[in-house]
Amino acid sequence: MPSTFMSIGECMVEMAPTGVGTFQMGFAGDTLNTAWYARRCLPDNWQVSYCTAIGTDAISGQMLEFLEASGLTTDHIQKLKDQSVGLYMIQLENGERSFAYWRSQSAARQLADNPHYLAQAMAGTSLVYFSGITLAILPPDGRKNFLNALKSARSGGTKTAFDPNLRPRLWEDANSMRSVVTEAASVCDYVMPSFEDELAHFGDAAPSATAERYLSAGATMVVVKNGPEDVLCAGDDWQKSFQPANVSGIVDTTAAGDSFNAAFLAEHLTSGDVDKSVDAGAKLAGHVIRHRGALVDCSQTG
Ligand code: ADP
Repeated sequence: MPSTFMSIGECMVEMAPTGVGTFQMGFAGDTLNTAWYARRCLPDNWQVSYCTAIGTDAISGQMLEFLEASGLTTDHIQKLKDQSVGLYMIQLENGERSFAYWRSQSAARQLADNPHYLAQAMAGTSLVYFSGITLAILPPDGRKNFLNALKSARSGGTKTAFDPNLRPRLWEDANSMRSVVTEAASVCDYVMPSFEDELAHFGDAAPSATAERYLSAGATMVVVKNGPEDVLCAGDDWQKSFQPANVSGIVDTTAAGDSFNAAFLAEHLTSGDVDKSVDAGAKLAGHVIRHRGALVDCSQTG
């Protein structure tokens, strides 16, 4: 059985303005972005699988084709009858981007309704990756199913990686967000937060406070990203800071964290070397933010 990197969450239809009054359709989502970059970072003997739920309509079919064409394994995508996928539209006003979402009925919200399906999908994978957005969109029972499946996969040897990606608007309230995110972190080998979010929603005084909070919850390793500032990696009895290289000509920071996570994990899963992993993450994120859009060709980055 090949080694498998499985990312779980919601992929949405994206409508991006072209500047001439029309919109260009694409597909995006935080966990999809990470899967897409992981496919490009990992060697060919790894499978990168995207796990979600979609509908059976034409747009769900196009999404599936896109995922397959991106080199992702789609065996664990549930196809739910009479359902469809979520959509968001990017709007530009005086150069500022804003987002409107139609996702409250999306099929992905049901991805954890069937605990057996999920447990079977995760079993035997090398790594399961998910985010706070994956958890936010699930109903309370779905969250329980998800974390139970994660725990049982982990007891069978699967590594678990989690980006809290705190988005309070997707949660019923901020306390639920903080408590579910902390519970998820407690069963993870890699917790990969962005300090800006953790400062805003947990009130951490510094990246080291974020790392300590997730380590005391039970995480094995915490990787705190902080835009152009140091990346802090920490485990129970060690801590290391890395300064990402200066990046000039930044045009769009969409997917900085998602791409960082993919390159970091791909390197750490194959070499186990933290220094090389941060280098790989910062290098890829540095490339991505010099280009427009979430999914940027990275075949020339070495
Ligand atoms: P997120 O997209 O989750 O908010 P961050 O903004 O913390 O993530 O950025 C993730 C990574 O992207 C950083 O650790 C860094 O390597 C890189 N990065 C982001 N912004 C910059 C920047 N202005 N200069 C250099 N690197 C950056």
